[in-house]
Amino acid sequence: MQLGDFEIHLLVAGGWRPDGGTMYGVVPKVLWERQKPPNERNQVTAACVGAIVRHHGRVIVCETGIGTKLDEKRAQRDGVWEPEGLLTGLRRLGVRPNEVDIVVSTHLHWDHAGGFTRRGPGGQLELTFPKAKHFVQRVEWDFALAPDVRSRSGYIADDFTPVADAGLIEFLEGEAEVTPGLTLRLTGGHTPGHQLVMFHASDDLACVVTGDLVGTVPHLRVPWTMAADLDVLRVLEEKTKLLEEASRHRWLLVLSHENEQPAGYLEPDGSWTPERDLIAP
Ligand SMILES: [Zn+2]
Repeated sequence: MQLGDFEIHLLVAGGWRPDGGTMYGVVPKVLWERQKPPNERNQVTAACVGAIVRHHGRVIVCETGIGTKLDEKRAQRDGVWEPEGLLTGLRRLGVRPNEVDIVVSTHLHWDHAGGFTRRGPGGQLELTFPKAKHFVQRVEWDFALAPDVRSRSGYIADDFTPVADAGLIEFLEGEAEVTPGLTLRLTGGHTPGHQLVMFHASDDLACVVTGDLVGTVPHLRVPWTMAADLDVLRVLEEKTKLLEEASRHRWLLVLSHENEQPAGYLEPDGSWTPERDLIAP
C-alpha cells in the first residue's frame, strides 16, 4: 500500500512455534488460549512479520526473521516454519538482496536479526544484504555481545557480528531519523536497545513496526507482556504511549509476531481493524 511517498509491502519471514507461556508471560493460560489456541505441546504459532519498503528509489527491509542458519535439531524443537520467507518475499517484489539499501530490525534477538546473515554454498557465513546499512542501537549491540545468563539463548553472534566486521552497522544512541521519514525510536524494555521502526509521511500518516513491544493482537492489551521482557515496567510505559498515539493518529501498526492479522489499526475502544490492503504476498 502507498503511505505518502512510502510504498509499503508486508513481509512474513516465516515463523516458529513458541511456548504459549513464553509469549504471554504472566497472563493465565485460561485467558490466552481462547485467543491463540496452543497445540498439544502448548505451542502457539508466531510469525516473523516486517515490511519491505520502497522510498525515493531506495529499498528498506524492516525485520529479517529467523533466517536459514539454525541447525535441524533447534529448528525442529522450535517448530520453525518457512525460514526462506525473507528471500521469497523479496523475490516476489523483484528485489535482489544486493539492491537493499537499509536494513533495520527492532532488536538483535535471533527471531529478528537471524536473516542478517546466511550460509553460502560452502557453509561459510555470508551477509544477506551485502550493500545495506544496518541500524542498531549501541546499547543493544553491547548487550547482545555480553548478555545476562537469562538472555543468552536469545542472541546468536553469527547473526550480527559478520555485519559489523564488514563495516555495515551504523550505531545509534537513542531516537534517530536515519533517512527522511524513517525514525527509529528507542524503547528498551523487551531488551535494552529495543526500538520501534516508524515510517512517517506526516503526523497523521505513519506506519509503525512494533517489534516485541506489541508482538501479537492479544498484546494490544497493555498488561499482556512477554515472559522474556527484561524491564516490564518500561514495556508498560512505552506500550501505553505508543498505543495512545497510534489510536489518536490512526497509525498503521505492523505487529511483529502476529500470524493472522498482522497489519491494522487500533480503534479508540481497543479493538483491532485489519488493513485489508496489506496482506502478505
Ligand atoms: Zn521476537
